[in-house]
Amino acid sequence: MERLGIATVWLGGCSGCHMSFLDLDEFLIELTGKVNLVFSPIIDIKEYPENVDVVLVEGAVANEDHLEMLHKVRARSKLLVAFGDCAVTGNVPAMRNPIGKAEAVLQRAYIEDVDLSPAIPQLEGIVPRLLDRVVPVHAIVPVDFHLPGCPPPAARIRSLIDQLLAGKTPHLEGSNLKFG
Ligand code: SF4
Repeated sequence: MERLGIATVWLGGCSGCHMSFLDLDEFLIELTGKVNLVFSPIIDIKEYPENVDVVLVEGAVANEDHLEMLHKVRARSKLLVAFGDCAVTGNVPAMRNPIGKAEAVLQRAYIEDVDLSPAIPQLEGIVPRLLDRVVPVHAIVPVDFHLPGCPPPAARIRSLIDQLLAGKTPHLEGSNLKFG
């Protein structure tokens, strides 16, 4: 059987969803025999590859780097999973939206609320420009599956992967978010 090519991507999130992925513990060892991890912040591959079978995207879309990466990821992946509440709804990163557009957010964080050396960080090509609004992944590209939770528990991640490995179409079912 051909191995599934899995990627994970970290956009505007706290990496807690990736920590939950690592909570799969010994299932990760089992997985190494069944999938190829082709791109992830937990491995050292710099360029997102072509023809990825499944990608888990953590985090909301908050800056221009996220936007560019997400378009690339969508174009090169067969199934895209919005991984965790930030990706699904905007969640924590989107709490800056009521402050106003990017300039107002930067003023609040780096000028108004700072006592020593207030200055907005900017370095072309190094510090990505903030978007005016933080948005969830589905606001930018089509999403195949939403995996909710902050973070999604390891058992829920495993359920999704198990179903994909079995060639099934994952779906959420019931108020306890049990996968059918
Ligand atoms: Fe962190 Fe929760 Fe967002 Fe995951 S959903 S990146 S755990 S804040």
